[in-house]
Amino acid sequence: MLVRMNYKYEMFPNEEQMETMNCWLSICRHQYNSALLDKQRFYQKNKTGLSRHALQKKQTKDKQRFKFLKTMPSQPLQEVFFRLEKAYKNFFEGRTRYPKLKKHKDYTSMTFTQFGVDKRKIKNKKTGDVNVQDVRYAASLDENNHLLISKLGAVYVNFHRPLEGKVKQVTIKRQSNRWFAIFSVERHVNETVDFPVQSTGVDVGIQKFAVLSDGSNVENPRFLLKAEKTLKRAQKKLSRMKQGSNNWKKQRQNVQQLHIKVANQRRDFLHKRSYHLAKTYKFVFVEDLKIQNMVKNRHLAKSIHDAGWGAFCRKLEYKCRNNGGALIRIKPHYTSQDCSSCGKRVKKALSVRTHVCQSCGVVLDRDHNAAINIEKIGLDLLGLSPTL
Ligand SMILES: [Zn+2]
Repeated sequence: MLVRMNYKYEMFPNEEQMETMNCWLSICRHQYNSALLDKQRFYQKNKTGLSRHALQKKQTKDKQRFKFLKTMPSQPLQEVFFRLEKAYKNFFEGRTRYPKLKKHKDYTSMTFTQFGVDKRKIKNKKTGDVNVQDVRYAASLDENNHLLISKLGAVYVNFHRPLEGKVKQVTIKRQSNRWFAIFSVERHVNETVDFPVQSTGVDVGIQKFAVLSDGSNVENPRFLLKAEKTLKRAQKKLSRMKQGSNNWKKQRQNVQQLHIKVANQRRDFLHKRSYHLAKTYKFVFVEDLKIQNMVKNRHLAKSIHDAGWGAFCRKLEYKCRNNGGALIRIKPHYTSQDCSSCGKRVKKALSVRTHVCQSCGVVLDRDHNAAINIEKIGLDLLGLSPTL
């Protein structure tokens, strides 16, 4: 099975390259913003949309007039319109708000949609002979394993883990004052895998990060809680400083660094946990929570946001798939109320942390009881439930 996945590495451009990339990002941003305005004007006048194709054509024309557009590779410049198209699609399908003009801090990446060296047939017009030639795209790896970008040069990339599979595209991203290369690759994965356990149900924990149907749980690591606390303190300190002062600038930098650190630690934690689950269970059942709706509930808001449950499920989903298993979302239906042992409904408020069934006598942690129910519903859905 062929799957698409991302690998992210830090890259180390020199001063000049950094300046160039910052400049390219700002060109991309201006293209994005002016295309957005063009679309709006076009719609007001003609009551119909301006297509990506039309924007592309205009850009080609603009290149003759505005020479600065030629100072950067054309692929990331064209890719801008794909982003805009996606932003509109997300809006029309109700996932996001109407696309806005991007500010400097919101536009931090550019994508090279082709990568490496490819064979291409080239026909000699005079003789009609067809020759196969190597074509190097605007982004590729050179013989020293440096990222080679046309009009920029070679940049050292710290490949802290091996890049596996065929690279299809690369995105260059600025985060605070650091630069990252995100490679999107296609990989073959093994389809026949032995799983130690067939299935599990997983429930979002309130105190724990998640609870499994065998009663085990996934906890938020201490170091992460500590790092988050440090970040909050640093933010508070920043807010008390005089804006624009040297100390304020220093502290702002400090806060940004901490932000990245916490985000990295959190991502690392989510990756490790989801990887472990995907290796262990063939089917992982979770509730299909509309996170947006749940966040409205004040009690749950904090824990769900902090725990990054949505991000966890997304990681778990593709890891299961890549490993030959599946993450299956089930409709939440009294999963925390019903008794997982006898099926009787035991109504309880959110503050009640233990499930006590008067009818069969079972006593379970609330989330554990829910996780068992989730697994049961899931197995039933797949026609795998043990027949009684
Ligand atoms: Zn019961």
